[in-house]
Amino acid sequence: MFPNSTISLVVPCHNESDNIPALYTRVRAVMESVGRSWELICINDGSTDDTLERLLALHDKDPRIIVLDLSRKFGKEAALTAGLDFARGDVAIPLDADLQDPPELIPELLDKWRDGYEVVNAVRISRDGESWLKRASAHAFYRVINRMSTVDIPADTGDFRLISRPALEALKNLPERRRFMKGLFAWVGFKTASVYYHREPRHAGRTKWNYWRLWHFAVEGITSFSQVPLQLASYLGFLVSLLAFLYAISLVINTLAYGNPVNGYPSLMVTLLFLGGVQLMALGIIGEYLARIYEESKHRPVYLVRRQWLNDTAMPRHPNAERDADARRK
Ligand code: UDP
Ligand code: MG
Repeated sequence: MFPNSTISLVVPCHNESDNIPALYTRVRAVMESVGRSWELICINDGSTDDTLERLLALHDKDPRIIVLDLSRKFGKEAALTAGLDFARGDVAIPLDADLQDPPELIPELLDKWRDGYEVVNAVRISRDGESWLKRASAHAFYRVINRMSTVDIPADTGDFRLISRPALEALKNLPERRRFMKGLFAWVGFKTASVYYHREPRHAGRTKWNYWRLWHFAVEGITSFSQVPLQLASYLGFLVSLLAFLYAISLVINTLAYGNPVNGYPSLMVTLLFLGGVQLMALGIIGEYLARIYEESKHRPVYLVRRQWLNDTAMPRHPNAERDADARRK
């Protein structure tokens, strides 16, 4: 099985024009040393620069470069989903276009796969070129989500990992439309190993993630993989009711003992505002989940491909990969 194994690299690209030539050079050098059939699936996620033109120029030069052009920007998770749907290899490896995920690690990932692991995570032991605030918030995020969720989402692991065909098929069968990939990768399980690497700064360009988007990403992850916030809302309600009950008893006793001099305005205001705040917060949490149910119930496709530049001769189709992107649209 291993000598003829084929490898699909999957790269979502949004405005990565300056990174694409370097990405190709490094990937090609590594893959030549590996000596297997490979394909590099690049998904153009609504770029506004000349990313698509550069990808197509590469596709003309080297048919192993496969290009999917999405109809608009769908976001990284959707772009990655599209790429994985089209992947034909025995293993798929998602990579970032900015070379923060070094292709040179791929042989190590493959070694673990040959040892019998079905998923191999690439874990960052350092993150150069990222602010301490980003590192600290990432650290906090993994702690919080792993406390809240029954699925163990490995810390410091991005989308860079090796997914073998059985795990990939399982992943493709997950029906949800809002795809928090890190969580889904963890959810499918399979026999997993890790390799470690130092994360370098971006090769060129700027990150697409500001703190507001990262916050949304965190909320997305938590609401996808945990019901704890919902339970929190009811526990908080219970706690507040208990406090209110104790306060009511003390009020009755006070009134009986000292009469009622009618000056409860501050306590009234505080209670009112506090309760109002707690209620709004609980409603907000419920709303977050409701929005997700609404989103899922619309059954819209995760992505739309405007045009695809495939190549069926460069790499044989994996027998299990017949069902490709069409299946998701049904
Ligand atoms: N990306 C994408 N769509 C988006 C945002 C990002 O396809 O809406 C791609 C981007 O081109 C890159 C990868 O996702 O290949 C990671 O993005 P980025 O480097 O900005 O994220 P960071 O490394 O800062 O977390
Ligand atoms: Mg990056």
